[in-house]
This record gives sequence, C-alpha cells and structure tokens, in this order.
Amino acid sequence: MNDVLYINSRFTTTSERVIGVEDRGFQFGDAVYEVFKFVGKRPVFLADHYQRMERGLREIEIHSPWDEAAFAAIMRELIARTAFDDGIVYIQVSRGEGERAHFYSDDLRPTVVAYTRAVTFPDAAKKERGIRLVTTADLRWKHCDVKSVNLLANVLAKKKAQRAGADEVLLIDGGIVREGASASFFVIRGGGVITHPPDEHILPGIVRDRVLQLVRAAGIPVEERPLRESELFDVDEAFITSTSMSVMPVSAIDGRTMRRGPLTPVLQRLLDEEEARDASP
Ligand code: PLP
Repeated sequence: MNDVLYINSRFTTTSERVIGVEDRGFQFGDAVYEVFKFVGKRPVFLADHYQRMERGLREIEIHSPWDEAAFAAIMRELIARTAFDDGIVYIQVSRGEGERAHFYSDDLRPTVVAYTRAVTFPDAAKKERGIRLVTTADLRWKHCDVKSVNLLANVLAKKKAQRAGADEVLLIDGGIVREGASASFFVIRGGGVITHPPDEHILPGIVRDRVLQLVRAAGIPVEERPLRESELFDVDEAFITSTSMSVMPVSAIDGRTMRRGPLTPVLQRLLDEEEARDASP
C-alpha cells in the first residue's frame, strides 16, 4: 500500500525506497521510534509522544531533528496529506548513515522517517472479548525505557504467542511480571490497581500514564510495584494498555481464564473520553 511518507524534510510515499544500506538504524538498530494514533484526522496525545521520543533520543545521544512546534507541524501535515481519517503514525529517528563501524562519528545527520498507516481500532465487541496472553521469558536489553528499534526479543516473543493461539505475551523476568511485548500490563485487586513502576525494565507507556492519572483522579488506589508471577491468578481483573489497543481486558493467561470485573470497562470508558478530549480541535 502506498502511504504518505515523510523523509528528511520532504514528503513522498512508502513506495519510494528511501533508506541507505549503511543507515545505522538498519545495520545496528541504532534508532528510536514512536507510534501515535489519529482519529478523525486528529492526533491523540501528540505532546506526550514527542516528549517520550525526545527523552529516548537524549538517552542514546542522537541529535534531535526537531523542536516540538516543528514536530507537531510535520505530523499534522502528514495526516492532512493522508487519504484516510483513522490510523497510526510510525516515526523513526536513526543516528544516520555512515560507513559501517561500531564507532560512530559525532556529526552524523539523523535519518528521520514518519508515515501513516490505516488501522481499525478495536470495536465494542473486541473490547468486551479481551485478549489472551501467554507468559514467556523477558529476553530484552536492560534499557527498556528507551523505545529503541531493537525489537528482536519482542518479535520472537509475539511469535510464540501467535503459535499458542494467543494475542500477546506477558514478559517474565526472574519471577517478576514486566509488561507485554507491545503493551503495558495492569491487575486490579481489592479495588486497587497494581502495575510495574516506571523504571528501566518497562517502556513508560503513554496510555499507561494517562490511565494511571485517570485512576488516581477517580480516587482509586494505585500501587506501582513489581508483581510476582505467583500473584498473577490471585487478582480480580487484568488488562493491558497501548496506543492501538487503548484499555483491553485480559481474558486468559496461559490458557487459564481470568476473572472479569466491573472496573476495566469503567477505565475503558474514561480513556475513550480522554482520547476524544485530547483529539478535539
Ligand atoms: N510496552 C511496550 C514494550 C511497547 O512496545 C508499547 C507500545 O508499543 C507499550 C508498552 C505501550 O505504549 P503506549 O501506551 O505508548 O502505546
């Protein structure tokens, strides 16, 4: 499919081959990425995504190619040039192109790409049905708070979920529940929400942070602490969050049916309202 593509200050389509073979993103995974959604042509939580990307770029010492105003203007133009109304924007900033060597020159020009993709977000039936998870070892690097394009461990884990007839994995690290391969993970127990603290073991999910704000504003207690694998089935509800899934109940883990409760649908509604508010003009 030919989608609109932004590459290093110009617009084209994804049918054009634009990345050089010695781009460091391609050869070393030396890049960060970001994904935000747009609904009715309006970006959702755009400023949050910009800030997370800036933090990631700083962490791995890639020069930022834009300030917030330039970023927002490019993203809005990309969406305006796109034929469909609802979808995601995938953005990637690599350290740039240079003769292949682990050592890199400090004056490389980052390669910047961003393109739109049509996405059908989960409908009411899917949001009610929920998703199935399988547990698997967390084999990722030790800086999971940076949204790096090094997704090999995530990709292999997701394949395992697919082969098991599940939708997503739950990454387990030495008996501790971290998160999904592309989603944050939460449980509800005794009327309170428990999720992993924001540290180097998980990605600080944009939806995760919004949901926690909504939960706190609703007066529901929050515990940000590592959950032990042994606690997984002693919960009232479990759900995941992500940009494309929003709040999604977990129906089963490793083939064991999870209890369903009243709070996840409330959080689904609160997040839908928050997204609609953020996306409004
Ligand atoms: N955790 C991981 C490892 C992810 O890759 C993602 C999204 O891709 C998330 C969590 C959810 O993040 P967000 O809410 O920003 O989409």
